[in-house]
Amino acid sequence: MLIVKKFGGSSVADNEKILNVARRCIEDYNAGHKVVVVLSAMGKTTDGLIAQAKSINPNPSPRELDMLMVTGEQISVAMMAMAISSLGVPAISLNAMQVKMHTTSTYGKAMFKKIEKERINNELDSGKIVIITGFQGINKFDDFTTLGRGGSDTTAVALAAALHADACEIYTDVDGVYTADPRVVPDAKKLDEITYDEMLELASLGAKVLHNRSVELAKHYGVPIIVRSSLNREEGTIVKEETKMMEGVVVSGVAADKNVAQISLLEVKDEPGMAFKIFDALANKKIDVDIILQSIGRDDTKDILFTVSRSNLSEALEILNKLKDSLGIKKIVTDDKIAKVSLVGAGLRTHAGAAAQMFGVLYNAGINMKMIHTSEIRISVIIDEAYADRATRAVHDSFIC
Ligand code: ASP
Ligand code: MG
Repeated sequence: MLIVKKFGGSSVADNEKILNVARRCIEDYNAGHKVVVVLSAMGKTTDGLIAQAKSINPNPSPRELDMLMVTGEQISVAMMAMAISSLGVPAISLNAMQVKMHTTSTYGKAMFKKIEKERINNELDSGKIVIITGFQGINKFDDFTTLGRGGSDTTAVALAAALHADACEIYTDVDGVYTADPRVVPDAKKLDEITYDEMLELASLGAKVLHNRSVELAKHYGVPIIVRSSLNREEGTIVKEETKMMEGVVVSGVAADKNVAQISLLEVKDEPGMAFKIFDALANKKIDVDIILQSIGRDDTKDILFTVSRSNLSEALEILNKLKDSLGIKKIVTDDKIAKVSLVGAGLRTHAGAAAQMFGVLYNAGINMKMIHTSEIRISVIIDEAYADRATRAVHDSFIC
């Protein structure tokens, strides 16, 4: 078997942890498998490098920032190769330039185009464990690029797809994917399996276990991902296309996202093109809009309400204030003390009563819903931030426990 094993920064934070990972990789090697290891930078190295860059130039060029950031992963792979060798097994570390992992040109958010296999396969065939830098690539100028924060997961999946690996294991400091944040819902359960689509919904809703793009890539290439802990031997959670849906299991998780703000545009002129002009201006500045509601017209105006991430609120307001007069928007009201609580499950597709059940749970808990949004596999409500944890627990109790 060919196994790709990815370890995050917390799993390689110091020598002892590196040696622990080295031993785990050697176990698979000794069992006769080919082993490719993908690593993040040690601990909080990447944060440190960014801070260092900003200390000399508050606005570093994206090229130079990538040039600096890729050094973090080079340290961890070289250390790992040394650790594995010290335990008597041949190992080699490679960076993206040596492997030739081609990406698009945009620094800081590059995407993989093609990964060359020759070097990796040669090293594996000569009996080595191959350790590869996560998070980085090279572009058509032969410059280093990075994939965006948390991008090493995506490197692991891209390598598993390119090498036709038999398994792609992503090791982290939690045991797998849970039905809710265990800090909020103490009896949240670890899931044995979850679909790509559910995982994508949960990840974008704040359950930050995997880099979103790694899940998209895994879905595209049909690479099953195993998420498990580097600290114990638990089985973890398998992320894949279809899960065995047991009778009555409708929901796989409840997630709360507090990085949400609502913007209400009141008494907007009721004429064609208004929504286009508003959302086009926001999209041009790469501000994602999530839930959108529009009221039915009254006189010759209507209201448009929507949510953005809280971190984008001030920039969104700046844009909207500039448009206010020309679009005839009477008033702009914002609320950043809200949260989005979502129920996610592939089984929601066929479960007609789920929305009513969720609204009933919130009603019984005395929680008012400000907005509602549903898709095939999720039901989201916007509520007061103060009630987010209570709502999460109540919905979890009703659907999962
Ligand atoms: N070291 C990078 C980061 O901190 C990539 C990763 O950890 O996946 O974002
Ligand atoms: Mg990570």
